[in-house]
Amino acid sequence: MSLDVAAIRRDFPIFAAQPPPFHYLDSAATAQICRPAAEALLRFETEARANVKRGVYRLADAATRAFEEARARVARLLGGVDPREVVFTSGTTLGLNLAAHTLAPRLGPGRRVLVSVLEHHSNLVPWQLVCARTGAELVPIPATGDGRLDQAALEARLDRRTAVVAVTHASNVTGAVTDVARVAAATRAVGAVLVVDGAQRIPHGPVDVRALGCDLYAFSGHKMFGATGAGVLWGRGELLAELPPFLGGGEMIARVTFAASRFADPPHRFEAGTPPIGPVLALGAAAAWMTALDWEAVQAHERALTRRLLDGLAALPEVRVLGPADPEARIGVVAFTLEPHHPHDVCQLLDVRGVCTRGGHHCAQPLMAHFGVEASVRASLALYNDETDVDALLEGLAFVRSQLG
Ligand code: PLP
Repeated sequence: MSLDVAAIRRDFPIFAAQPPPFHYLDSAATAQICRPAAEALLRFETEARANVKRGVYRLADAATRAFEEARARVARLLGGVDPREVVFTSGTTLGLNLAAHTLAPRLGPGRRVLVSVLEHHSNLVPWQLVCARTGAELVPIPATGDGRLDQAALEARLDRRTAVVAVTHASNVTGAVTDVARVAAATRAVGAVLVVDGAQRIPHGPVDVRALGCDLYAFSGHKMFGATGAGVLWGRGELLAELPPFLGGGEMIARVTFAASRFADPPHRFEAGTPPIGPVLALGAAAAWMTALDWEAVQAHERALTRRLLDGLAALPEVRVLGPADPEARIGVVAFTLEPHHPHDVCQLLDVRGVCTRGGHHCAQPLMAHFGVEASVRASLALYNDETDVDALLEGLAFVRSQLG
């Protein structure tokens, strides 16, 4: 069955709200919010607001139950994991900082953290900080020429000194998808922990984290059709049980005396303070909305659009695409340069045509250095895009060339 994109678009209020032409090709930065998520957020804030995990009156109890239902919905999206393995955060960045901070006791001189050069800064800088603090060595995993993880180079670097391997599931620049199961097998063989940044992969379909074999998996609600402000760090239950707290405060304790505290079990151990309740409920609604989709049809649709985009760009002689040419090896996140123009000029002129793209280093400067460029334009697709969006971008690039020469 082919995807009914018009029906999908009706689930996104933005498309009725924005005057045409409106071609949203920046979903890798933030995806649009789906109606069930927006409604969950508004309903909580205006009709059902109370703090969670504390009150005994009915309104507070209902808020707590809705919060835990959101956890169960996310658990279903992740392949039916135990909801206690789902830690709510403010987003991918916090999840990865939580991972780095709580794994720090396993690091020290003689220990190594392997991080790929594909990473968004949020899966690199926390490891730099923790290595500097503990004396562990930060070791880069190189990329292939077309911007994929170099699996052979990773395997050559893995040994018993390795405490942590941190990789992205899909690059926010090249769209390249990492073979996480293969990385996980190699990581497990040396007894290291595998941390995966799932921010870009999760909007493109449910992820069975147990089948992947990773230990920690982080993502953001706002990139998977939820609200800004909430995200998830999934962790293998056995590992979470061993990790120390990250932030201290209310809700993460079992018992406090002035002398010492005993901490709550996961996931609450890692959720200090009042969580972003409305955004978490929106995340849960988005997860349920996603779970109900026909992903075979969605992925076929996205692949066809990615192919159309890559073919269209390949026909433009001044364009250089960063990343794999094969749409099977990537998601629809496509970064490119249009020589000799600065990406910001290109994006501004595309905006004149109603085409929303992003220009810059995409918070992945080591990967940009790998390609020998400072910045690029990035167009990123989601399930609500169609051929008119891709064609508007390609025609927009012809317009840019006519304006800038
Ligand atoms: N990781 C990747 C691959 C990303 O693309 C992004 C955001 O663009 C992040 C992490 C950070 O996500 P957030 O800003 O939602 O924490």
